[in-house]
Formats: sequence, structure tokens, C-alpha cells
Amino acid sequence: MERFHHLINGVTTAGTSGNVGPVYNPATGLQVGEVDLASVEETDAAVAAAAAAFPAWRATSLATRTKLMYRFRELVDANRAEIARRISIQHGKTLPDADGEVARGLENIEFASGVAANIAGRFTEQASTGVDVYDMRQPLGVTVGITPFNFPAMVPLWMFPMAVAAGNTFILKPSEKDPAASLYIAELMNEAGFPPGVMNVLNGDRIAVDRLLTHPDVKAVSFVGSTPVARHIQETSVAHGKRVQALAGAKNHMIVLPDADIGLAADAAVNAGFGSAGERCMAIAVVVAVGDIADPLVEAITQRMEGLVVGPGDQASTDMGPLITGEHRERVAGYVAAGAEAGAEVVVDGRDLEFEGDGFYFGPTLIDRVRPAMTVYTDEIFGPVLSVVRVDTYDEGIDLIASNRWGNGTAIFTRDGGAARQFVFDVDAGMVGVNVPIPVPVGYYSFGGWGESLFGDTHMYGPEGFRFWTRNKVVTSRWPDPSTSTVDLGFPRND
Ligand code: NAD
Repeated sequence: MERFHHLINGVTTAGTSGNVGPVYNPATGLQVGEVDLASVEETDAAVAAAAAAFPAWRATSLATRTKLMYRFRELVDANRAEIARRISIQHGKTLPDADGEVARGLENIEFASGVAANIAGRFTEQASTGVDVYDMRQPLGVTVGITPFNFPAMVPLWMFPMAVAAGNTFILKPSEKDPAASLYIAELMNEAGFPPGVMNVLNGDRIAVDRLLTHPDVKAVSFVGSTPVARHIQETSVAHGKRVQALAGAKNHMIVLPDADIGLAADAAVNAGFGSAGERCMAIAVVVAVGDIADPLVEAITQRMEGLVVGPGDQASTDMGPLITGEHRERVAGYVAAGAEAGAEVVVDGRDLEFEGDGFYFGPTLIDRVRPAMTVYTDEIFGPVLSVVRVDTYDEGIDLIASNRWGNGTAIFTRDGGAARQFVFDVDAGMVGVNVPIPVPVGYYSFGGWGESLFGDTHMYGPEGFRFWTRNKVVTSRWPDPSTSTVDLGFPRND
């Protein structure tokens, strides 16, 4: 059984708390490893290492930091297949999905390598006579990232490349369910030549997280995970004087207007609903069918679902892997049962699919005629369950999305440019797709939702990422007129 330790001060460090968590291969249902869970003392030691590394790292030139980022980028790219393999084994997603996650993460490293341009300040000459004003963005100190299981490589890469490039030191607390990929990526930072203590990985659960949130030397906390935990992270961090961004749960709607290309919309719904077994914060959970497109759309989605192959993520024929745990599979099944009981129509029932072995598999599921009061609609299921809500008009669809408590991503499918433009204007969500079902912004924009999908303020990565990881300093300076100098500088003198 593989053992996953901490990586502190550039060194693999075995846990001393005596607490460990199980790590499974969801495709077999078997435990494949154990992860150390840090105590308060071990957490303090990680913060001390990051704090000790900070003064020299913030004084390191931008030229050197940029070079290291480039080297790191090359190492991640060269080891893509190995990172994808580690993701797939512990998460269960297919290898192409895992590789896609690394590709999106690479974008963030590339953006972070442009740190010099992105944190440059402004300069105003002669604000008053002889007075100049300028500003700069400086790093914060020890910074922290706490990440979910569903993107064990990409989500950490949303955070630490920008944080570290800006001159902070960093402690990553990855999900204890699949720690292998983030540990490996942190090892690549070592290999790239980042000084010890700049990037640290601390494995743990709530004990480690709560210590990080209250530790006086931690200056900023970036979190991605479920809504209740995000709320806890934000409230605790703020109460302890830290800046915080906490990205949370989602229930993303895709509205399909009567003029949409049905084939395109059905393909999009299937890919965005069942990719990574629906365990994506930008997955489509609800298809909002406007008017008489509902029947042909449900039929087209159903047809495509028949072709989906569910199986181990490392097999080339697999379209959809298992869920993360057996417990989660039971939870997903419970929502489908509740939907059926509440009167929704289960068109394709994932509970019916039979699998050999003990993997945490659940078949893709389509539920039609879902109404907003049903738990299948109100709750984030985070599994391969696609709901269809039928509405008569565009306005009804817009109101439905606005009244949902989350507002992460959304999409419209239509051939009408004017309707699409109006949707972009009207809709309550942080990220919007036009005939694009999963509108994850490219690395030089920023990622974030509205409503209960985000606690805190700035969005993650891109320009807002650099703002989050730095603070502004404004300098107002006045120099005496050189002609008044007591030393002859060669300037015209007044006397
Ligand atoms: P989670 O909230 O259970 O765990 C996230 C992190 O918080 C993990 O590192 C975990 O160890 C830690 N944690 C869990 N419970 C805690 C507690 N009580 N106190 C302190 N720390 C705690 O989330 P998950 O199940 O790993 O991930 C799935 C969730 O993440 C979904 O809700 C999904 O929508 C969300 N997510 C959101 C985004 C986004 O960008 N908005 C992206 C990815 C995932």
C-alpha cells in the first residue's frame, strides 16, 4: 500500500500524528494507500517552514522567479502522462479527462510566468510640484490553498503558480481522497529549483485546515470545495484577519431555446452532464428546455446516453469512470429515488446498470419533468444525474436560474445572436457560455461564480488571482529641488 506523506521545506516528511486516511482506487473499490493527516503541531511546523522561506523568496528577483516558473512549466508538460495516470487511479476519471485537467493547469502556470507584467505598478509624475506618486504590488507572506478531490491537479494550479510567482510562500492542503497528483506536482517544483519552503504540501483533514485558518502567520486562504465548508472557511479566515476566496458548490443550468441545433445541444448536455461522472463544479446539472424543443431534446439526449461506456478510467473505451467513494454513490442513488418519488420521470436510470467487482460505479441518469421544489433540483448532487426542467418561455428560464442559490456557470443554446446577447446581459451567473456548455475561462481571464458559488470577493487565477495574492503599496515622494543642494551637483544654483 502506498503511503502519502507531507512535503515540507523541500523534503518528504512522514507524519507523526498517528492519524492516517484511506485512499481508494474507485475503479476497483480497493484501498490502495494511506495518507498522513497532520496534527496542529505538524501544521505549525509547515507554517514555520514557509515563514522562514518568505524573506529570501520575496527578495528574489522577478527575473529569477520567472525563469523558475518556465522550468516548472516545462517539467509539468514533460510529465503530463504521469500526472494524468496519478489523477485517474485515485479519482477514477478517464485518462483523456485527466490529461485535459493538466492542460488547463498548464495555462495557469503560463499566465503566472508573466508575473512581471501582471504586478507592475503605476507611476504619476508631478502629482504636486516636486511630488511623484507610484504604487506597487507586494506579496503577503505565507499563503494557503485548500483543494477538493475532483480536480487534484488543476485546482491547486489555479492557486499556487500565481501566489508563488508573486513572491509568497505556499502551503497546499490537498483533498485527502486523492493526494498523489498534487504531491507529484510539488515535487516537480523542487526539481525546477524553487528554494526549500517556498512550496509545501501538508496532508490532512479538518484539524490541519482549522489550524491553518487560525494561525497568525497565515495571511491568505484560497479554497475550492463544497458550499458548507466554503462558508466555514470564509467565516473563520475573516474572523482571524485573513483575506479569503472560497469557491463553492454549483448547480449549472443550460437553457435551450426552441431554435437551437438539437444535435449540438444534446451532445453538449451529454458531455457536460456526464464527463468526469458529473463530478465537476462546471458540469451541467439542469437542462432548461424552452417550449416545444423539450420532447425532441430529451429523445436526442437519451439516444446519445445509450452509447456511453462506463468503466475504469484507464481503459481507452471508457467514456465515464466511477464516483469517488461508495458512500457518494449511495448519496447519488438516494437523490434519484427521491426525484422519482416526488413525481419526476426517470428516463434513464443509472441505478439499473450492473457492474462486475466493487468499483464505485453509477450509470448516467436522465430525469425529466423535474420541478424546482424537488431535492434533485434544490441540492448539488455532484454525480452523473442530468435533470430536465421544462418551461414555456425564455423569461421563465431566466427567473429559474436567478432564483437558484448558486451561480457558477450557465449556458444558452440558440441560433439567435440577439437572444444570446440578451441572455449574457440578463443571466445571474459568474461564467456564461454561448453554445459552449462548460465555459471555464482561459488562464488569462479569471474563474469564479456568483451567489453561493463564491464566498469572499476576488475570483481565482488570471488577473484577479494576482490581485488576491498581492497587496498594494502607494508611495508619495518629494525630493528637494536639486538647485537648492548644499553640494554643487552641476545644476544651476539659486545663489
Ligand atoms: P469538500 O468541501 O468536502 O472538501 C474540500 C476541502 O476541504 C478538502 O481539502 C477537505 O479536506 C476540506 N474539508 C472538508 N471538510 C472540512 C471541514 N469540515 N472543515 C475544514 N476543511 C474541510 O469538497 P469535495 O467533496 O472535495 O469537492 C467537491 C465540492 O467542491 C463540490 O461541492 C464542488 O461543486 C466543489 N467545487 C467547486 C469548484 C468551484 O470552482 N466553484 C471547483 C471544484 C469543486
